[in-house]
Amino acid sequence: MTYARKVVLVTGASSGIGEATARRLAADGHRLLLGARRTERLDAIVAEIGAAGGTSAAHPLDVTDAADVRSFVAAARERYGRVDVLVNNAGVMPLSELGQGRTGEWERMLDVNVRGVLNGIAAALPVMRAQRCGHIVNIASVGAYEVSPTAAVYCGTKFAVRAITEGLRQESGGELRVTLVSPGVTESELADGITDPVAREAMKSYRAVALPASAVAGAIAYAVDQPDTVDVNEIVIRPTGSAQ
Ligand code: NDP
Repeated sequence: MTYARKVVLVTGASSGIGEATARRLAADGHRLLLGARRTERLDAIVAEIGAAGGTSAAHPLDVTDAADVRSFVAAARERYGRVDVLVNNAGVMPLSELGQGRTGEWERMLDVNVRGVLNGIAAALPVMRAQRCGHIVNIASVGAYEVSPTAAVYCGTKFAVRAITEGLRQESGGELRVTLVSPGVTESELADGITDPVAREAMKSYRAVALPASAVAGAIAYAVDQPDTVDVNEIVIRPTGSAQ
């Protein structure tokens, strides 16, 4: 796969880091399948990638639905003949203190951030094993390494993604490459999903200094473009000077 045009699947490609990753990897010559629920956004991104000379397609995807994720992977095989890289990027972050008991939001974080990643692994692994090569890139967060108030559940999901990624790496059997990318604050729509007014206000100063999503896309591109024999395991990327 070294330096070849790869087939790359990106979940949550309709905004933020996923969108930037799709644009970057398409510009690098890879062939992309973009998944998310907001398909009109995906269609617009696919059109722009095409106008710039890149190759991509859109697929409706809810990562919490295992059958949906299987059909996402199957669609990539049908269109491009193989699956080289899966970027498990889709995520949500409705922050609040545990005492508020926003159990529905906890469940959504667990479903999208953890179950979504597992659904991606379950769908892609058999295909990659049959090919005897493949690369799974999971997007965690600096919240996979440290916890802060209002972020207990979100960090819990990202600690889980980190643990699952390390387990997958250990089981990769020399055929798979496995990468965890953990961004600090990055420009995106992620904080728009915070419904708790206190957490929402606190985020304004916390998120004042942020990486452009293209910087995280560059980190993902670095891992993807390494030779087959080089497995980049973890990348933590923050805005310069960020304490968190
Ligand atoms: P955005 O909110 O901009 O993007 C999130 C993406 O996830 C959207 O494309 C959204 O698409 C998709 N998504 C949400 N729910 C689902 C679902 N059920 N099925 C499929 N797709 C879904 O945020 P970011 O770009 O910031 O987030 C990307 C990843 O980066 C997340 O995992 C996040 O936790 C992580 N991260 C972000 C940081 C930041 O500061 N921005 C820092 C650290 C980590 P749609 O709604 O169309 O389905």
